[in-house]
Amino acid sequence: MARFAMAIDTKKCVGCMDCVVACKNENSVPEGYNRDWIVTITEGKYPDVHLEIQSQRCNHCDNTPCVECCPTGASHVNDVGAVVLVDHDKCIGCKACLAACPYSARFINPEGYADKCTFCIHRVEKGEMPACVNVCPTHCMHFGDLDDPNSEINKLLASRKFHQLLPEAGTNPRIFYLT
Ligand code: SF4
Ligand code: SF4
Ligand code: SF4
Repeated sequence: MARFAMAIDTKKCVGCMDCVVACKNENSVPEGYNRDWIVTITEGKYPDVHLEIQSQRCNHCDNTPCVECCPTGASHVNDVGAVVLVDHDKCIGCKACLAACPYSARFINPEGYADKCTFCIHRVEKGEMPACVNVCPTHCMHFGDLDDPNSEINKLLASRKFHQLLPEAGTNPRIFYLT
């Protein structure tokens, strides 16, 4: 089984939000909600200020409090690429998973089910890249299989410094920010 992940090059991301717009279009994300979003982090003091722009979304964590807490089995890890998904028909909209996610990656869709990034699995299964990756004008997002030693993402993680969000949460997120 594959274990899909994303490495995002913060040195190339310019915060244009094309990924946000592409996701909304591709996935018919309702007005007022987003499956991905931009966060800008500033660290240090003049003249040594560092700016990092992060395109954030569900981290498709290896350890999934959102799945463990789900009372109906709607939240699950799929068997194609260990992608964390929600079965809309099984979801009762109880919001337990929203409370359990340390990244605030989920929202309740106006139709009543928990919604979030799917890694565009409907595209990936057809051999296409996720919509956000596909549209990025600086090509800063790299999507691939962590279990394939020859994948581009593994080569990037072996050759570049990176960090993950909230490692102390113990979820082992699979979005990597290259620095
Ligand atoms: Fe679950 Fe949140 Fe991790 Fe996504 S980011 S897999 S919703 S805990
Ligand atoms: Fe499960 Fe839906 Fe409740 Fe989330 S909102 S825990 S997916 S039933
Ligand atoms: Fe949206 Fe797909 Fe990108 Fe996830 S992978 S943020 S669902 S476009």
